[in-house]
Amino acid sequence: MKKKLVGLLLAASLLVISGCSELEQMFMLDSAKGADSMVEGETVVSFLDVGQGDATLVQTDEATVLIDSGRHDQRVIFDHLDELAIDSLDLVIFTHPHADHIGNGDLIVEEYNPEEVWIDGNETTSQVFERLVDALLASDANVVEPIAGETYQFGALQFDVLNPGEELTGNLNNDSISFIMHYGDVSFLFTGDAERPAEQAMVNTGISLSADIYHMGHHGSNTSSHDFFMNEVLPEVAVYSAGEKNSYGHPGATALSRVEATGAEIFGTIEDGTITIRTDGTTFEVDTAND
Ligand SMILES: [Zn+2]
Repeated sequence: MKKKLVGLLLAASLLVISGCSELEQMFMLDSAKGADSMVEGETVVSFLDVGQGDATLVQTDEATVLIDSGRHDQRVIFDHLDELAIDSLDLVIFTHPHADHIGNGDLIVEEYNPEEVWIDGNETTSQVFERLVDALLASDANVVEPIAGETYQFGALQFDVLNPGEELTGNLNNDSISFIMHYGDVSFLFTGDAERPAEQAMVNTGISLSADIYHMGHHGSNTSSHDFFMNEVLPEVAVYSAGEKNSYGHPGATALSRVEATGAEIFGTIEDGTITIRTDGTTFEVDTAND
């Protein structure tokens, strides 16, 4: 099942080819965390306020990466990308095919021509997913299904993949592509909407989950960020992406208290708007759109 979608996309693309043609805070790091590589320049990670959905933009000197593309029924992500003067993307990661993560995915692929697109390999029958597949078929993007244990490099960014494993579970949340992104000594953990079974699977990989910045799983839901997981991550800062007055009760009070118990400072798009983290690979600072 897992390799089926990439195979399908590859086969179809071959056919196409042959057929025709203001708050600001500084954080100093514990020396023990992160990778050892030295980097020059700056990386900016923007947790975009797209209401009840995920969309995070990563900008370095050499690479621009989008992690998820917001809701299917809101276009606000394009305002953010315009504001940040983005006209192309190197990598787009769709953590999993729910509509609050791949919303606008077809337009993102069509308008920003990513060189590479990551999908987890699960398929759904939703229109938003079918539109994304059509856009991928029509694109030149290299479509990849990363699995736990793999490492990818984009410019100075290193991605250590934590989830899914070789076999998909078929549970869309728990197959979320999850990874630690390293820039120099600063590390960011993204887990999509991974819940307890996926958090346990990530711990079981034996890969270090230690990260300076943790994007809270499943929009800060109580289904995620369990103690056994947080004790491995021990972030300095945690960010959740959720919309005002959402019907899911995100973020959840117990998830927030579990993350708080690690000593992390928590930011959220509901209160803070877009949250921007700038790092030189040694220290980082957090800016929020709302004071
Ligand atoms: Zn979601």
